[in-house]
Amino acid sequence: MGSFLNVCIYRIPRNESLLFPQSHCPNCQNPIKIWDNIPLLSYLILKGRCRVCKNKISIIYPFTELLTGILYFALFIKFGLSLRFFLSIFFVSSLIIIGFIDLKHKIIPNRLIIPLIIASFIFLILLFLGKKSGVLPLVGNQKPVYSIYGFLAAGGFLLIIAMIKEGGMGGGDIKLAGFMGIFLGFYVGIALFIGFIVGGITGIFLIILNKKTRKDLIPFGPYLCFGSLISIFWGQKILELYLRTTGL
Ligand SMILES: [Zn+2]
Repeated sequence: MGSFLNVCIYRIPRNESLLFPQSHCPNCQNPIKIWDNIPLLSYLILKGRCRVCKNKISIIYPFTELLTGILYFALFIKFGLSLRFFLSIFFVSSLIIIGFIDLKHKIIPNRLIIPLIIASFIFLILLFLGKKSGVLPLVGNQKPVYSIYGFLAAGGFLLIIAMIKEGGMGGGDIKLAGFMGIFLGFYVGIALFIGFIVGGITGIFLIILNKKTRKDLIPFGPYLCFGSLISIFWGQKILELYLRTTGL
């Protein structure tokens, strides 16, 4: 799956088919042999270089494969072999693809995020029809309608920011926040909060280190994805901690 997510990350922004042609070296265009395409292992054996042209292979590829493996395993530990597990796999895989594409291309393509949102609503309807609607949102015991609330509230919140602060928030970020809301329900608030804090701190550091000026576009999507991951695993704990420390 990690390899497949890499294919998505590479090809979706380039408008290429996900199925054809088979994987090839972006430098010399030679097809990658099946035995050179084993996740993680091939990267180590080839020492991070193409077998034919010796061009360097980005460390992002094995990193994505490793991250996917670790996250899938953690989701399995959390949810067991359940409907929630498979929905969380769909959600987390989407976050990985979106996060890395936005990091590299500074865009969340509509042809990616819109089908993902439509698919999520189809899941909601199917769960409702199958009388399994407690499965979404993924975090805690929320009523199914919180998926809709989360979608509207998170998308709406970023839409308002986008209208107040021009250039601060892209249309892709707004749709991503809505997508997150479907799976997180009201815990999307924690995801947004973490995204803003971590994104803000990183932005300040990059400006201090002179890597970026205030005018540079710092993609926000990866931070939203990061916040979502934290919320799936620790959202409830963070909320409890917050309620306890504020005495609510
Ligand atoms: Zn090559």
